[in-house]
Amino acid sequence: MTWLPVLLIFFIGAIVGSFLNMLIYRLPIDESIWKPRSHCPMCKKTIQWFRNIPLVSFVIQQGKCAACNESISWQYPVVEFITGSIWVICFLIFVPMHAAMTALFSSVLIALAWIDMKTMMIPLSLIISGIVVIVMSVIMGTLKWKFVLWGAFAGVFVPLVMMGITYFMTRRQGMGWGDIQLGLILGAWLGPWNMALTLFLAALLGIIAWLGISMKKGFDRNRPLPFAPYLVISAVTIFFLESNIGFWFDHFLLL
Ligand SMILES: [Zn+2]
Repeated sequence: MTWLPVLLIFFIGAIVGSFLNMLIYRLPIDESIWKPRSHCPMCKKTIQWFRNIPLVSFVIQQGKCAACNESISWQYPVVEFITGSIWVICFLIFVPMHAAMTALFSSVLIALAWIDMKTMMIPLSLIISGIVVIVMSVIMGTLKWKFVLWGAFAGVFVPLVMMGITYFMTRRQGMGWGDIQLGLILGAWLGPWNMALTLFLAALLGIIAWLGISMKKGFDRNRPLPFAPYLVISAVTIFFLESNIGFWFDHFLLL
């Protein structure tokens, strides 16, 4: 692909990222996602369309709201950039239909992980959105239903067993029910084996993060840690690596 379509896809992804930012802001506070147009979280002024261009507006306005001059959270450009990049990766390595489904599913995961990171909650509406994309993928033929069902089973069953063992040993609930729901859609997307690998990698990342935070802020047995970000990072990494290990070697390492 030449740079122009790549840039175009990046920009479409960044627009989706801008929509995800709105979801990240509104879903946890139960604000309607349809009604009021984009507005500044500080001064509540409506943002005109030409000041709402993903990444570009942030750079031009030097990270400040045009109306009240308050700083805009770094979350906005970061989510737009990550989403744009993932869309580009999808369309570079998959055929268009597969790329579109993967890009959509990854976008749902980005919003979900970010909301869990901020609020320790996973909105059910995003789990349902994930299920809708998976059903669409089965209809479009990019996922096989048998693979989806076995994966979903593994994604629920293995975390439930892990939760049971954790509870038996520590009398604490290690994971939340939201994580089990997330396991359901991740398993359906990844299939059983990659789901097992994802859980293992996510637990490892979670433990490393927990140790890091404990060393910085002091040891606290009860410190809660959102698990969805680690699950999502692990799932996306394993999905892209497993799908295209050959591609990555060809294009980046052996050039
Ligand atoms: Zn403002």
